[in-house]
Amino acid sequence: MDIRINSYIPITDVEGVGTRFAIWVQGCSIHCKGCANSHMWNFDGGTAYKVIDFIELIKSYKDKIEGITWLGGEPTEQIKAVIEISKAVQELGLSVILFTGNEFKYLENNADFQEVIKYVDILIDGRYEQDKTDYSRAWVGSSNQNYYFLTDRYNESVITEYKNKIEVRINPDNKIIMTGMGDFSKLSELAR
Ligand code: SF4
Repeated sequence: MDIRINSYIPITDVEGVGTRFAIWVQGCSIHCKGCANSHMWNFDGGTAYKVIDFIELIKSYKDKIEGITWLGGEPTEQIKAVIEISKAVQELGLSVILFTGNEFKYLENNADFQEVIKYVDILIDGRYEQDKTDYSRAWVGSSNQNYYFLTDRYNESVITEYKNKIEVRINPDNKIIMTGMGDFSKLSELAR
């Protein structure tokens, strides 16, 4: 089985609890107005990885991370691969955070969704709604989004413990990559 991924950052401190391996899957049919990641909508974009190889890649960072975070794109639109990788990550003793633009109640009756949430510690649901933009809560950009704590590993305290932050990276090809959550507009101007 393959998974199409737009990009990943093996070590980041701005995509959930602690230091995490963040994965932006490729492909999203939700198309929120004002989405910052519209280049991740196309299901033919990104790069295809064998799930088994991607698990090995995550394993190689095992001692440096607390867990993985699924972002996108829309992770539930490649749910079989997300299940397999998330399961392997939990077996390593690491945690899983999953962002979905769908609503939990919309996915609830889906068998694959029931399977994936067995391996997810925190699920954050809801599309980005431009008119509800709000960066005051950890890792989310609009006030309609909800946190679901699905295991005992974390609880609501992390929402106030963690503040939104933006990481800026300069790749070897001088491309500037900004990740995290917050108002990117001023930083984008500076990066021009
Ligand atoms: S669900 Fe996420 S990636 Fe998809 S359109 Fe909405 S904000 Fe963008």
